[in-house]
Amino acid sequence: MFILKGIDQLTNAIAKAKKVRPRVEFDHFGRYRVSGSKGYYTVICRKDERGIKTVACTCKGAEKGLACYHAAAALSLHIGLARQQQTA
Ligand SMILES: [Zn+2]
Repeated sequence: MFILKGIDQLTNAIAKAKKVRPRVEFDHFGRYRVSGSKGYYTVICRKDERGIKTVACTCKGAEKGLACYHAAAALSLHIGLARQQQTA
């Protein structure tokens, strides 16, 4: 799991996601399944009451606190959905 402070920390992960083009499946708001080298990983995007955003992925990289490309792929969908909710 890692704390999302800004888009800058995702630059490399986004570049990788664009290259790998993983499949992102919507589970429910804040929860996504992203295809990886060893099947699907679950990515959970949360915002706590202080407004701190955390992203958790079930892959090995995210366990070590790295921003993985699964998280980047899920976040691009999540951010779009969050915007839609705000404007709805
Ligand atoms: Zn991951």
